Amino acid sequence: MKKRSVRSLDAATLAGRRALVRVDYNVPLDGAGGVGDAARIEATLPTLDLLLDGRARPILMSHLGRPGGRVRPEESLRPVAAVLQQCLGVPVHFLESTDTDLAVQTSHELPEGEVLLLENTRFLPGETANDPALGRRLALLGDFYVNDAFGTMHRAHASVVGAPAHLTPAAAGLLVEAELEALACLRESPRRPFVVAFGGAKIGDKIPLMESFLERADRILIGGAIANTFLAAMGLPVGESMIEDDAVTTAAELAARAPDRLVLPVDVVVGEPGRSSGQAVVAAEAIPWNLAAYDIGPDTREQFAAAIAKAGTFFWNGPMGWFEAEGYGEGTLSVAGAAAAAAEAGTFTVVGGGDSARAIREAGLADRVSHVSTGGGASLEFLAHGTLPGLEALDDA
Ligand code: ADP
Ligand code: MG
Repeated sequence: MKKRSVRSLDAATLAGRRALVRVDYNVPLDGAGGVGDAARIEATLPTLDLLLDGRARPILMSHLGRPGGRVRPEESLRPVAAVLQQCLGVPVHFLESTDTDLAVQTSHELPEGEVLLLENTRFLPGETANDPALGRRLALLGDFYVNDAFGTMHRAHASVVGAPAHLTPAAAGLLVEAELEALACLRESPRRPFVVAFGGAKIGDKIPLMESFLERADRILIGGAIANTFLAAMGLPVGESMIEDDAVTTAAELAARAPDRLVLPVDVVVGEPGRSSGQAVVAAEAIPWNLAAYDIGPDTREQFAAAIAKAGTFFWNGPMGWFEAEGYGEGTLSVAGAAAAAAEAGTFTVVGGGDSARAIREAGLADRVSHVSTGGGASLEFLAHGTLPGLEALDDA
C-alpha cells in the first residue's frame, strides 16, 4: 500500500498553489475559548512547514466533535486558529464557513506564507453521508489535496474521500506517511516472536482486529475488560465485572482457535463495582460474585512483561484495567514500562488506540517506544484490513 507522499510534490505543483489539507483538529476545548490539548495541532506542523516552504498556500479543513450536520457554535474550530498561529508562526485566518462562495473566494485571495482554516466540516449536512455534491464543492477550495488526518481515514466522509476524488495530485501528509510505515510493518513483516497485547473495553469493535492477529501473532496477551469476556466465555464466574454479553460466543470461538497462543490473566485486582474500595488480588477463576475485576494482578503483569521482553515485535492496544481510577492503573503502567524497555532493547514497539496512547503518554513513556499511533479506530481498521477509505482516495506512489 504505497501512496504518493507530500514530499514527492514538485515546485510546479506547490508554488503559489492552494493546498487543500484535511487535518485532524478534533481537539479537546477548554470551554473558555481555548484548546485543552494542542498535541493534534502540533502534529501537523511538519506537513504545513513543508507546504509553506514550497510556497504552497494551505487551506485547512477538519472536523471537531459530532455536531451532526448542523452549526453548533461550541464546536467551532475558531479557538484552534489562534493556537495554530502561535505554533506555526505565520498568520492563520479563520473563516466561519466551509463550502461557500465566500470560502472559495477567500482561498483564492490567501496570500503566500499565510494559512486559512475553514469551519468544522461536520457542520455540513453532507459531510458524514459523503454527499457527492459536497465533495465537488470542497474540491473547489484547493488546486491539489493532502490528507494528514490519519485518525479519520477510516471514515468515508466528503472531506476525506469526496474532495480528493476531484483533485490531482492527492497525496499523504507526513503524519499519515509515518503511521503507514509503522503499521504496514506490523502487518507485513513483523520480526518474530510477534507479541500483541489487547485490553480496553470495546471487544465488539476489536474482534476483526483480534481475528486478524490470531493468524499472525505468536502470542496474544489479553487484559482489561476484554479479559473478563474471555473468562466468562470459559464459563468462569466474573462477578460484577464489565463484560460484553454479545461478544461472549465470539470470544469462546477465538479462544478455541488458538488456545496455545492466547494468554489470559492468572490473577486480577478486584474491587467494589464502580469504586476504588475493597481492593484485593484474587485468582482469575475466583472473582467474588459481588466484586468486579478492574486490573490484571501482579503475577499476570510479570508473565506479560516476560513475554514482551522476548518479543521481536510488540503491538499494544487497550489499557489493562480501569486505569483512570485510583488503584487500578498498575497493570497498564507495567505493560507501558515493559513496552518501553523492550523498545530500548531493539523490539519494534507500536502502541495504538486512543486510551492506550493516552496511558503511555501519561506514563511519560511515549517517546521511548517505536511509534504511538494517533489513529485509534483508523489504526485498528488498517491493521485488520490493510487499507482505509481515505487511503484509497489518494494517488498511488
Ligand atoms: P483504546 O482506546 O486504547 O482502544 P478502549 O477504548 O477499548 O481502549 O477501552 C478503554 C477503556 O477501557 C478505559 O476507559 C478503561 O478504563 C476501560 N477498562 C479497561 N479495563 C477495564 C476493566 N477491567 N473494567 C472496566 N473498564 C475497563
Ligand atoms: Mg478508546
